[in-house]
Amino acid sequence: MPFLTATRKFEFASSHFLENYKGKCEHMHGHNYKLHITVKGEIANDGLVMDFADIKKIVKNKVIEKLDHKHLNDILKNPTAEHISIWIWDALKDHMPLHKIKLYETDNCYVEYEG
Ligand SMILES: [Zn+2]
Repeated sequence: MPFLTATRKFEFASSHFLENYKGKCEHMHGHNYKLHITVKGEIANDGLVMDFADIKKIVKNKVIEKLDHKHLNDILKNPTAEHISIWIWDALKDHMPLHKIKLYETDNCYVEYEG
């Protein structure tokens, strides 16, 4: 059976400031983050790699509810997009066949993490 990826998009809004950083982002500010969660696997008997509804439920539960409208410095140390991506990966990796996380801090800037 072929292996495919499936991706669902999410959004959350959070505040943060960067430590060990000189520039605008050392001060507290907010972002409307966009998050792409990609899973990978064989097509199962139901014709799916993973049900989008299940991806939604798990990501809402493990990530969005924990980060949306929160101050990220209270949750993880030095919350750069890079560190947030690793935090999200760790929160999801035991619950779905994760392939890639893409986290947009702005429309023009994103990081990718594949574990
Ligand atoms: Zn920022």
